Amino acid sequence: MAIVEVDITIIGAGAAGLSATAEAVKLGARVALVDDNQHPGGQYFRQPAPKNFTFASLASDRDRQRFEILVNALDSPLVDYRPGATVWDIHDPLTIGVADGQRSGRIQSSAIVIAAGARDHVYPFPGWTLPGVITAGGSQNLIKGMGVIPAGPIVVAGNGPLLLVAAASLVSVGAEVAVVVEASNRSWNIVRHAGELIYGGSNLRLAVKYLRTLRKARIPVLRGYGVIAANGGDSLNSVEIAPIDSNGKFIRSQVRQIAAKTMVIGTGLTPSLELPRLLGLEEVSMPLRGGPNVLTNEKMMSSTRGVFVAGDGSSIGGVELSLVEGRIAGINAAVHADITVSKSAKATLTRDFTAHKRLCRFRSGLESVFMTKVDWYDLITPETIICRCEDVTLSELEKYKAKGLTTPLQLKAATRTGMGRCQGRNCLASLAAVTKSGSRDKEPNGEMPRTRPPARPILLSELLHEQLAPPELPEDPHLPRKRE
Ligand SMILES: Cc1cc2nc3c(=O)[nH]c(=O)nc-3n(C[C@H](O)[C@H](O)[C@H](O)COP(=O)(O)OP(=O)(O)OC[C@H]3O[C@@H](n4cnc5c(N)ncnc54)[C@H](O)[C@@H]3O)c2cc1C
Repeated sequence: MAIVEVDITIIGAGAAGLSATAEAVKLGARVALVDDNQHPGGQYFRQPAPKNFTFASLASDRDRQRFEILVNALDSPLVDYRPGATVWDIHDPLTIGVADGQRSGRIQSSAIVIAAGARDHVYPFPGWTLPGVITAGGSQNLIKGMGVIPAGPIVVAGNGPLLLVAAASLVSVGAEVAVVVEASNRSWNIVRHAGELIYGGSNLRLAVKYLRTLRKARIPVLRGYGVIAANGGDSLNSVEIAPIDSNGKFIRSQVRQIAAKTMVIGTGLTPSLELPRLLGLEEVSMPLRGGPNVLTNEKMMSSTRGVFVAGDGSSIGGVELSLVEGRIAGINAAVHADITVSKSAKATLTRDFTAHKRLCRFRSGLESVFMTKVDWYDLITPETIICRCEDVTLSELEKYKAKGLTTPLQLKAATRTGMGRCQGRNCLASLAAVTKSGSRDKEPNGEMPRTRPPARPILLSELLHEQLAPPELPEDPHLPRKRE
């Protein structure tokens, strides 16, 4: 098996991965950039698939220019760019397994930057798996990547800033948005946290633009409401919403029905942790930032030396923070790979250190503005599907709980929850939440199924050429690997 050797491996060609690549290449580092999309850009800079695209890109001139500068770095002979390739394994901290659709190989380097981004944090509720119910991130991908406009009337519901982005995008491409339903209802928080929000810079201008788009189109925005159920058969017919009281509880005596063909639900994002978990990187619980986040220092280095984690894949913070973290990680990864750092890179680091602080303050302000006491898991009924890949409902889980199988690990084994195509990415947090009382955003240590390769689905045929390393199993293969 051929092993490719480079100075730095960067996983993910989104905002963080591209900016890390650009900085590392400027310093003369040999970089392997691996991304499972066919085009660079990740989620924010997602490029349209040219064949079936029907309307003009939503990207602003500023974003088009920024993206062009970032992708120019991929033309450098120092970059081994691998689009459409999946990192499925990290055998040791500095060697990754990459499958490109045909075969799998290994890349070894002196430093790794994991910039794997995030995914929508999905909470189950009655009707959440009906055709027509999509996530806020999914709606953005349909519009930006495929040029597809979801069918109206559309109810956009949930909590957080991505909801506003999704609603404004839908309106901009001519979709029929009936209403935006936002769970938080503390407009005075904007004033109270103005001192932090002021650090948002271009983020603030964008937020105002999105609000103006909604106001101009006369889209009603209901604050302090939430969706409690989606109704329909082969497709979505209506959505039930209810006001939320000051304790975060839904007032079910005041339920309203809204006709809808599409529901866009957004309740935040959560970092993609498959690769950090394969390495056993240290995590920290951040309920407002998608639950478990990867612990990093000011250099974006994780608890394992030489492994840097940047962007939403480390902690949810949006595109501006991802760009800054990518640059910091790219330069520090080069330092780790013994590459001499230029004066201008040092100046970039100093600037970005300050920018990082400012953007983190903005993020805290934003989190306070969108703060809600709602426990979304309260919406689950016995008939609600928890694992959509394997069609497992809460009542089925309860049946096994009654027999004494109480931990997520035991319930996974008994019901196949988390064993389908998504490999638990959508349902393991819900499984953890419904199996315990107390704080639901903290995963119970030692009771969660361990992440194993492949980190993302690949073809068995891709592994035929692999000379697999001998297994190194811990004493109990279900428990996380021991940290160094
Ligand atoms: C579905 C979705 C849509 C979003 N749309 C928007 C939007 O329109 N506007 C907005 O402001 N914010 C959006 N966001 C938020 C967005 O995550 C950030 O603003 C920004 O894109 C983060 O940049 P990043 O580089 O950290 O991650 P990303 O941009 O997500 O890039 C990560 C890249 O890594 C790749 N990757 C991950 N794991 C592997 C692996 N194992 N092997 C190979 N490649 C891998 C991913 O496919 C992706 O291309 C969206 C988030 C999601 C989840």
